[in-house]
Amino acid sequence: MPYVYDFDHKHPRPPMELKDLLGGKGANLAEMTSVLDLPVPPGFTISTDACRDYMADGWPESLDAEVARARKRLERAMGKVIGDANDPLLVSVRSGAKFSMPGMMDTVLNLGLNDKSVEGLAAQTDDERFAFDSYRRFVAMYGRIVLELPGEEFDALFDAAKEKVGTTSDAKVPTDVLRDLVTSYSELVERHTGQPFPQDPAAQLRGAIEAVFRSWNGPRAIAYRDRERIDHNLGTAVNVQAMVFGNRDDNSGTGVGFTRDPATGAKGAYGDFLVNAQGEDVVAGIRNTEPISELKKQFPKVHAELLKIFSRLEQHYQDMCDTEFTIERGKLWMLQTRVGKRTGAAALRMAVDMAGAKDLGISRAEALTRVTEDHLDAVLHPQFAGSDFTVWAKGLGASPGAAVGRIYFTADDAAAAAARGEKVVLVRSETSPEDVHGMLAAEGILTARGGLVSHAAVVARGWGKPAVVGAEVLKLSPHEVTVGGITLKEGDWLSLDGAAGIVVAGQVPLTEATPPPAFATVLSWADDVRRGKLAVRANADTGEDAANARSLGAEGIGLCRTEHMFLGEDRLPVVRRMILADTPAEETAALEELRQVQREDFVSILAAMDGLPVTVRLLDPPLHEFLPDTEEMAVKEATTGLTAEERKLYDAALSWKEANPMLGTRGVRLGVVKPGLYAMQVRALMEAARQRVADGGHPVVEIMIPLTVSREELALARSWVEGAVAEVTGEEAPAPSNGVAPMKGTKAKKGRLEVTIGTMIETPRAALRAAEIAEVADFFSFGTNDLTQMTFGFSRDDVEGRMMGTYLELGLLANNPFDVVDFDGVGELVRLGVQRGRSTRPNLKVGVCGEHGGQPDSIAMFYDAGLDYVSCSPFRVPVARLAAAQAVLAASADSAGGKTKKPSGKKSRAKKSAHKKSKGH
Ligand code: ADP
Ligand code: MG
Ligand code: MG
Repeated sequence: MPYVYDFDHKHPRPPMELKDLLGGKGANLAEMTSVLDLPVPPGFTISTDACRDYMADGWPESLDAEVARARKRLERAMGKVIGDANDPLLVSVRSGAKFSMPGMMDTVLNLGLNDKSVEGLAAQTDDERFAFDSYRRFVAMYGRIVLELPGEEFDALFDAAKEKVGTTSDAKVPTDVLRDLVTSYSELVERHTGQPFPQDPAAQLRGAIEAVFRSWNGPRAIAYRDRERIDHNLGTAVNVQAMVFGNRDDNSGTGVGFTRDPATGAKGAYGDFLVNAQGEDVVAGIRNTEPISELKKQFPKVHAELLKIFSRLEQHYQDMCDTEFTIERGKLWMLQTRVGKRTGAAALRMAVDMAGAKDLGISRAEALTRVTEDHLDAVLHPQFAGSDFTVWAKGLGASPGAAVGRIYFTADDAAAAAARGEKVVLVRSETSPEDVHGMLAAEGILTARGGLVSHAAVVARGWGKPAVVGAEVLKLSPHEVTVGGITLKEGDWLSLDGAAGIVVAGQVPLTEATPPPAFATVLSWADDVRRGKLAVRANADTGEDAANARSLGAEGIGLCRTEHMFLGEDRLPVVRRMILADTPAEETAALEELRQVQREDFVSILAAMDGLPVTVRLLDPPLHEFLPDTEEMAVKEATTGLTAEERKLYDAALSWKEANPMLGTRGVRLGVVKPGLYAMQVRALMEAARQRVADGGHPVVEIMIPLTVSREELALARSWVEGAVAEVTGEEAPAPSNGVAPMKGTKAKKGRLEVTIGTMIETPRAALRAAEIAEVADFFSFGTNDLTQMTFGFSRDDVEGRMMGTYLELGLLANNPFDVVDFDGVGELVRLGVQRGRSTRPNLKVGVCGEHGGQPDSIAMFYDAGLDYVSCSPFRVPVARLAAAQAVLAASADSAGGKTKKPSGKKSRAKKSAHKKSKGH
């Protein structure tokens, strides 16, 4: 396999599909060149193979010769030679991995200039100033990026030169001063490296290519890949491309354009450009840009051509594209395109618009796959509550959502403060890939400079983080920021609204978010896809949460944790009395009191979820969680002493203290030790259900026993539950426990109680013995939090803080298994449990109620395993609805096309279990 491919290389497949080989930038440059025939400066791509081989064994032997040949071809095509003393060709060296990645090496422009060719460039362009300004920029860029010298030292020399000639404008620095600057820059390089600035273009080229390879494993690139779960072994491609000059004259310029508005999704071209400027000038926000609509006035022909290209790109990529372009003396050049990043609101609007547009040919299913978890999260973001605040500064609203945090002025300080648990707003003049870790840690981002396509804006939008950019009124110094006489210091509170571009000193209260209209449309399409295949429920413990969950689309409650009801201020003393009871009478009295309050809780939950199933889990945690902390009591005993009541509680706490409470007397085991407890809970629940029926409601109750390990254990617990149900309803026990009689569904039946009894499957043994447990269970719900703990033998509280980071870094785990369900181990138990359970009871209803129930990759696995529903926290319900639809679509695409998707390099997405589907529906 060759390492180097020209942009017009005839690939067997469309180059846009070859991102693995050519990187994203290279693949799209080749697509624009060879398929779309757009005006792209010629060049070639050094493949990711070369980078991977470089990482494994150092610089590949054949690479120099291949690059030399590609360079010859490029020189022939351009009719110019790199480094030529009379008419030199200049090139850019651009990194480009499969996934666009901040933190990689910056682009080196104007490569090929040296002491001789700069004179040739001056003569050819008849512009000495331009030539030396280009050379000056090149030496500084090469020094900073390739030789890794401190960039400030170049800036300092430039600033000093400007001061000497009495100007603040780069454009006003005269030619002879630029000449001198080249000399002092070169001396600076020699001082640091002990070598003169490389004059040989081949050496310059090799240095730049190698620097791109190296930057793949730079700390910022690694941190970014960790966060985005991108495979560290992909490597990057390198693009070498003939330079075009947007900084030639006032008939030149450079810009960034989108085929639609990436912030709102509105149709029509969108972007910024700068007259007489090069490359990064637009993105860096160094000068103030003009909107693309202005292009029409100054460059009408270019504007028309650009719009035509935009519409071709949209047709071709069938999606919104972003582009970089440069105008050199009136001629338009395309320098980059890709499917553009977008805000959540824009993603939703584009999905709806594009699926509705006949000419793009995008189905609803396709549109659904383009909306991500992050997009939904972004529109569910909080906003400023009310308007009772004073605007302190205004900037450009670059990424929607409101954020409140303490000010930090460097990425390092922001990251450190966030690590201490503070909420942080990162305030900077502008951001660069160096700041990515601080931006990650921040609630929101504020910059003084830069436009809507500046680094800060693009990165924040990608992550759905609120950001205000280009707030030029900010007067920044290292540790404070002033606007209109009000100075805020490091650590002071700041609020910002990334949609409106508003900044407020102090803390503004935030509201829940209100999603745009397209949100409901997209989710209703998702519901159409998944209906009857994978339901979405919520985990909710109160009537309020249940109502909220229902409004977000939950189709029932998959987990109602009754222990939360026990922790209220009015309840805790009663619970304690029950634990402390010396006699059965005392215990019964306490239980009786608890029953009264629990009943009210259940009434409101059942009312909120009327007609939908509500799974109530009987008490699960170890009892000591309801007792005071033994260490605190010991301290109190030693200092102020204990009251008689406290003494009793302390003794009880000591006697209930366990070495491994998570593996101790909890769940159904607690029920066995205190049998009155579960009966009381069921009585309260059934009374509530009966009251709902009396009020004309339709309660659908599922009673769930936690932490079961055997049939006998569940049969015993079931007998208490049935007893209590019969006692309250006066009816026969609701469900047969004698084998495999069919269970009734949850069809609405007015005036009748519907009760089923099931269990959580959260121990490996329960999953393995699912066949016999199903004899006495109407349903299973996988508690994947505990199941993960017990399958790995990982105590979550202990391992997540201490060892998880190291394990992920060393690649011992692909994902944190508490975040993304472990497909292979825990997943195997889930698949086994479903299979074995249904071998006994074919219509066994099965769900999942761990936190994984709201995580898209995990949801795909659960669907694959044949689950009927997932249950997650209320605010994750929209994400789960979308992910469930995407899982259904992916599964039907797999089985229809039979094509196995190539692993994308994003770890958790690529895996598909090889397990045969055992769908129960
Ligand atoms: P990034 O991945 O950070 O966008 P790019 O490789 O796209 O980096 O380059 C940075 C800037 O330099 C962009 O504005 C790009 O348009 C400009 N640029 C890159 N190559 C050339 C070239 N051959 N001629 C003119 N400008 C270029
Ligand atoms: Mg670019
Ligand atoms: Mg559990």
